[in-house]
This record gives sequence, C-alpha cells and structure tokens, in this order.
Amino acid sequence: MTQNRILVTGGAGFIGSHLCERLLAEGNDVICLDNFFTGRKANVAHLLDNRHFELVRHDVTEPILLEVDQIYNLACPASPVHYQYNPVKTVKTNVMGTINMLGLAKRVHARILQASTSEVYGDPIVHPQTEDYWGNVNPIGIRSCYDEGKRVAETLVMDYHRQNGVDTRIIRIFNTYGERMLPDDGRVVSNFIVQALLGEELTIYGDGSQTRSFCYVSDLVDGMIRLMNTTGEDLHMPVNVGNPGEFTMRELAEEVGRAVGRPVAVKFVPLPQDDPKQRQPNIDRAKAILGWQPTIDLPTGLARTVGYFEKIVK
Ligand code: NAD
Ligand code: UDP
Repeated sequence: MTQNRILVTGGAGFIGSHLCERLLAEGNDVICLDNFFTGRKANVAHLLDNRHFELVRHDVTEPILLEVDQIYNLACPASPVHYQYNPVKTVKTNVMGTINMLGLAKRVHARILQASTSEVYGDPIVHPQTEDYWGNVNPIGIRSCYDEGKRVAETLVMDYHRQNGVDTRIIRIFNTYGERMLPDDGRVVSNFIVQALLGEELTIYGDGSQTRSFCYVSDLVDGMIRLMNTTGEDLHMPVNVGNPGEFTMRELAEEVGRAVGRPVAVKFVPLPQDDPKQRQPNIDRAKAILGWQPTIDLPTGLARTVGYFEKIVK
C-alpha cells in the first residue's frame, strides 16, 4: 500500500486510537485531531514519540486547513450517555464538523471516509439490516441528535460526492467493543465488564430481550482501512461493517460472566426511550467488495477486553 498523510478526526477516542496505531504501523504519517470530549491523550500517549504522528487539539465544528491525502472522520461521541449530554453539540459536530471535513477533502483533493452507524436504521423493521434499507428513525426523540445527525452526515457526503466530485466512503459501523472504551462510557459491554469486575449487579435495561451484534475493534479497523483503500464503481455507497453474531442483553450478561470467570448477578432497570429492539448487520456487501469478514468471536474479544479493564478498574 502507498504511504499516505492521513487525518483521523476523533483519533484520541476508542476506535480512533486503534485506527491511528494501525495506520502508523503500516508506514503512514498520521495527524490525530481531537477536542478530547470523550477521547483521552492517554489513548495515544504511546504514539507521541513516533515522528510520523502528530496530535492536534481542535474541534471539527471549526474549519481547519491541513495538507493530507486521506481523512477518516470519526469525531463524534458514540455512547448514548455522551451524545445526549449536549445534544445540540452532537448535531453541530455531525453537520458542521462533517461539512468542514468534506470542505477540506474538496480543497486538498483528499479521499474521505465518514464514520456512520447502524443507528441510521433506527429501530429496524428489516432484519438483518441491508444497506438499501432506509431505516425507522424517530426524528424528535432523545437519540435523534445522533441518529439524524449521522443521517444528515451521510446526505452531505453523498452530495459532496455528486456535486463536487469528492472521493468519498461511508462505513456503517455496528456496535464495536474492545480495549480503551471508557469505564464510565455507558455502553453495554464496558458497563457489564466494569460491573462484573467490581462484583456489582449487571444493569440490564428493560427485559434484556433486545439484541445487538458486537464487533471486536481490530476487525472493525481492518474493514475501515480496506474500505478507504478499495477503489471502483459504487465505492461511495454505504457499507455495513459489523459482526453478524447477534445476542440478547441477557445472553451478553452470561458471556461477560464467563469472560470474568465468576458468576454474575443481574438487575433489571427501565429501558431508555427509543432503544432499538434488534440489530444485526447483513455484511454481504463488505464480503463482496472488500473481501472482509470478522475474525474475532465474542468470547475471544471479551476475554481481551476484560484483560484491559482488569488493569484499570480497581
Ligand atoms: P468515542 O467517543 O470513544 O470517540 C469519539 C472521539 O471524537 C473522541 O475522541 C472525542 O473526543 C472526539 N470528538 C467528539 N466530538 C468532537 C468534535 N466536535 N471535534 C473533535 N473531536 C471530537 O467513540 P468511538 O466508539 O471511538 O466512535 C468513533 C466513531 O465511530 C464515531 O463517529 C461514532 O459515531 C462511530 N461509531 C462507533 C460505534 C461503536 O460501537 N463504537 C458504532 C457506530 C458508529
Ligand atoms: N444496555 C443495558 N445495560 C447497560 C447499558 C446498555 O442493558 O448497562 C442495553 C441498551 O438498552 C441497549 C444495548 O444494551 O439495548 C446496547 O446499548 P449501547 O448503549 O451499548 O449501544 P446502542 O444502544 O447505541 O446500540
């Protein structure tokens, strides 16, 4: 692969830090841009001595000019707790941030990959979700700042492609987990692992029959890099990347119990508003055009993630 100058927005976050690491290992120059809302310097501290790595504190809602060949636009809080903390800012990050990054891509002729999400499918009626499904999203609910923000970000990407010929990619990321999730992140995998390690009851929202499909972070990063570097017809159309292994939250609690190696107790708490009932990616498109499929199953990925949290949770 040709070495590139690459901008990763949200690069100090959970997925972004793994992406920066991989891009550097492949011999690229990486600029990591982050406002440190949910990202941490500690996530990239081990990269700071690398002369091919630069860390820039910047908010994507403000324009910036950088000479780069590729842009991975990940900047946006991903956990419901964090994206609902300041919902107006979440919309601004998705709309103004994405416009700024698309404008930069247009100006410097960079290829840009937009981190979209399975949330564009909302509470899906089509199951598993294929890329041609338009989704079932509440436009005025508490998740809308994120779901609709990401949908309009996709619209902007498509319009910059059609109107300005920008070389674009859209990856629809399904629930991803692994090392460097924040212990207080609020997402289910980190919550359950931290609770299990502290000997607390695992908080199952609702009756725990809702499903999610969990992808280990190294698989996701692999799919992301493949999508960025694959060329051809229709590559600007969205691609699902996720692990089709689907689990109820009750099953996930049992898997986490096995991963920490001790029995866990659960408690049932109210289900948040608009919580999707089911989610599973159809990854036929990723298989066909990227030759990609996940390689790490849930027990293996959970064991690695537990190993990480054991070191940071006292
Ligand atoms: P994260 O919260 O760990 O990372 C997001 C990063 O973006 C953080 O470092 C944060 O500080 C930074 N950021 C937020 N707003 C910013 C702004 N205005 N300017 C600059 N930086 C900003 O989340 P993550 O799980 O690493 O998610 C990364 C991307 O992937 C997000 O765009 C998210 O929507 C998408 N995604 C993640 C998942 C998942 O399961 N983890 C699923 C679907 C989509
Ligand atoms: N969830 C849960 N307990 C928790 C956190 C989340 O049962 O402590 C549930 C949540 O209601 C949802 C699923 O786990 O049905 C995934 O939640 P998460 O916030 O990780 O991701 P998202 O809902 O955005 O897919």
